[in-house]
Amino acid sequence: MIKKLLLIPLAILLVVLVLGTNSYMKSQELRKKGDDLVNSGDLSTAIFYYKEAYGLFPLNQSINDDINAAELRFNSEIEYSRIINFDYSEVQSLPALETISPVQLKEGEYFIPILMYHHIRVNPKPNDPVWASLNVTPDLLNSELNYLSTNGFHVISLDDLYNAVNGGPLPSKPIVLTFDDGYSNFFESAYPLLKKYNMKATEFVITEVETAPAYLSWGQIEEMSKSGLIDFGAHTQHHPFLTSLSQGLITREITVSKSELETHIGKTVKWFAYPYGNYNDFVINETKKAGYLGAVTTNYGAVDSKDKLFLLPRIMADGRFTLDEFARRIQQ
Ligand SMILES: [Zn+2]
Repeated sequence: MIKKLLLIPLAILLVVLVLGTNSYMKSQELRKKGDDLVNSGDLSTAIFYYKEAYGLFPLNQSINDDINAAELRFNSEIEYSRIINFDYSEVQSLPALETISPVQLKEGEYFIPILMYHHIRVNPKPNDPVWASLNVTPDLLNSELNYLSTNGFHVISLDDLYNAVNGGPLPSKPIVLTFDDGYSNFFESAYPLLKKYNMKATEFVITEVETAPAYLSWGQIEEMSKSGLIDFGAHTQHHPFLTSLSQGLITREITVSKSELETHIGKTVKWFAYPYGNYNDFVINETKKAGYLGAVTTNYGAVDSKDKLFLLPRIMADGRFTLDEFARRIQQ
């Protein structure tokens, strides 16, 4: 009798298991179709299949991330052109020059400014203050690099910075050069100047941007990486506001951009830049877990300790700076 009573729930369990496994298998099949469609570039049909797959097996939350990722990519052309052409919030509010006073360094403290550049070109919108700030002309960049080279500055890489804050050697007047977003004008206008002065720099690239003409091609990225002068960091796949994404998608943006970049340049990608300087504790933690050595922000300031490796402050090289203002902001 007891045995018979036990058989009923067991039979129900078996039916549920068979049905569940069946839905799971079917869902995985549809998901695979979605993946293939993403790879062939048919994103809208891929989203359709992912949604079917999710409907069949909603327990699998990672399918929901597939849907969101495909939608992000589907909307990315709009997003990228927004960064290129419209309101763009990766700017920095600069403290007034009068408030900047020389720092007296104590034992174990550093003063390592990390410069942040975006576009190197003549500003297409001279009357817009945001654009005036984000666009540095090739002439101004040339003057600034010339200033660094004739005033005893030593341009170091982010790897050098990492070693220095962990006890390694640090040259006098160290400074780091970084460029965000991977615009093609970096290859056309900044790279020749960096070669001229033999200065290292890190460029943070968005990895799913290949088709948009205003950005660097993989060919250009590979060529510059081979030169040994330019280091490439990841700036996510789609340049989203990371904190507005699901946790699964945050992890994906941070880890997949790293692996995509590594596949192309054949080197370990060690540095990350938060799009729009937007982060929270979860984002920072995922960046650490992904294996990066550190990450840069858009917060104003110079690096003074190793506690800030995942919140590295930077100093925006503003397109409106005179050479004198540039010099004063990077003075210890
Ligand atoms: Zn950016």
